Amino acid sequence: MLKILTNLKPFSWTVVAILIFTFGQAMAELALPTLMSDVVNNGMMQGDTGYILTYGGYMLLLALVSSACSVIGAFFSARVALGVGRNLRNLVFTRIENYSLHEFDKLGTSSLITRTTNDIVQVQTVLVMMLRFMIYAPIMCIGGITMAVSRDKGLTLILLVAIPVMMGIIGGLASKVMPAFKVMQKKLDRLNMVLRENLTGIRVIRAFNKLDHEKKRFEQANGDLTDTAIKVNQTMAAMQPVMILIMNLTSIGITWFGGVRIAQNNMQIGDMMAFIQYAMQIMFSFIMVAVMFVMVPRAQASAERINEVLEMVPEINDPAEAKQLTGGRGHIAFEHVTFRYPGAEQPALENISFETGPGEITAIIGGTGSGKSTLINLIPRFYDAENGTILINGVPVTELTQAELRSKIGFVPQSAVLFSGSISENIRYGKTDATQEEVLHAAKTAQAAEFVKDMPAGYETPVAQGGTNLSGGQKQRLSIARALVRKPEIYIFDDSFSALDFKTDALLRAALKKETKESAVIIVAQRVSTVMDADRILVLDEGELVGVGSHRELMKSCKVYREIVASQLSEKEMSSYE
Ligand code: ADP
Ligand code: MG
Repeated sequence: MLKILTNLKPFSWTVVAILIFTFGQAMAELALPTLMSDVVNNGMMQGDTGYILTYGGYMLLLALVSSACSVIGAFFSARVALGVGRNLRNLVFTRIENYSLHEFDKLGTSSLITRTTNDIVQVQTVLVMMLRFMIYAPIMCIGGITMAVSRDKGLTLILLVAIPVMMGIIGGLASKVMPAFKVMQKKLDRLNMVLRENLTGIRVIRAFNKLDHEKKRFEQANGDLTDTAIKVNQTMAAMQPVMILIMNLTSIGITWFGGVRIAQNNMQIGDMMAFIQYAMQIMFSFIMVAVMFVMVPRAQASAERINEVLEMVPEINDPAEAKQLTGGRGHIAFEHVTFRYPGAEQPALENISFETGPGEITAIIGGTGSGKSTLINLIPRFYDAENGTILINGVPVTELTQAELRSKIGFVPQSAVLFSGSISENIRYGKTDATQEEVLHAAKTAQAAEFVKDMPAGYETPVAQGGTNLSGGQKQRLSIARALVRKPEIYIFDDSFSALDFKTDALLRAALKKETKESAVIIVAQRVSTVMDADRILVLDEGELVGVGSHRELMKSCKVYREIVASQLSEKEMSSYE
């Protein structure tokens, strides 16, 4: 919480303003009962209308000042708290953007979203309260007590009884409510998770007729949260009437004993009325403090969750003295690379070595889970290798800045991700200043030109969120065009042709070949037909490189490769390729 408050700095003048206005408000409120007692004692009791009007006027003025201060104070507090919220969201977002994939794996996307939104709102809410109360409550408490004592010492004894009773009750209720708050937060997390799964998995749920099952699951999470929330609110609801009861009993006590003192001529009526008001102000300040004690731990939990995001240090960082990629073009070399996912016992890749140069196509084939995606994720440094080196044009990737390294790469991920925006905007994502010709050319090479032409607004057709208005193959072709428009040194296709039919696949690879004469191309594929005419085929099996060579060589030397081929091609096709 404290760490988060350091974010207040940019708003320091506003914070000072809040303090000043809150101070003004408190002072005006403290002065009002005294003025009132003057009006009663010196005005009403003496029948002096002029006095009443003059002092009544002062009272009105003070009341106006106090409300004006209160409004301005509230305004600035809201500004500061929302500003802190905005800064925090920025901080969290920037930090998350710098995360490597490891950190995402650790915290989880869902949780990161909750932390950026809900948790920051929690902190924000408490911050508004703190800014208002941190000076107001103590002033009202100390000021109220001083003023009350100055009116009548004897009656103060009533407060000595009333306040401990009130604090006891508040403490009791708070100790019941506080743990429930934490539970509530967890149940809210669970509800979010169920809802998220339902929204993203709606097709699967419908296809498997699991609507009823999901409905039950949601109702359970929902009811669970509601039950806890009701319990919390019942307790909180009990708080208010109890407080009012105690305050009213205190007034009665003061009136009772005050009446006795007035009858004995030891006290004036106005003083007693002022005393009642001061007593209320004092008790109210205690309630405020108590509310803070309930609210702060709740925000504290959120603050800790936010700090966890801010303090997590990305594992992949730019080197202090980065090298430049000057010599050469389109060279990739893996030297004895071993890689293990955090917590995994078996390495996902073991002792991988190969080399590829400009104009060469390297294909990677292997069963699912054999480590193909893992291998290519190491090239743009999404993860760092545990052992061994990956070199681009002779420079280890760890000695380059991530921006420099990635600017050389055109990456087409396994599942095509498009952003909301038009088709041409999505292609330009690869190169912001691409001309219209470049966009058209990339689309043509990616075999996307045909279907884009048939779309209602051509290249300006909007892509829906997540690209749901396009087929899988269309999305993949657009994400290929996005990589092509960069004209990078290194092309990486992670199983990008699997959603295409054989003919489009072949056309695309033929068109691609013309584009990539001076670039390194790495193609991950499932189909033998896709990899067959590559210059070099890497055969992966459970993270190990079990074969390197052309189709012909591998057919002779590599058992795993022969098995893959046999599972896909008929005997006749096999013999015709040999
Ligand atoms: P392929 O692309 O060849 O199908 P992957 O490279 O995606 O295979 O996965 C290789 C192995 O690494 C699999 O056993 C998989 O379970 C594991 N793996 C993949 N991604 C992660 C991850 N983020 N965390 C832990 N293990 C992973
Ligand atoms: Mg894969």
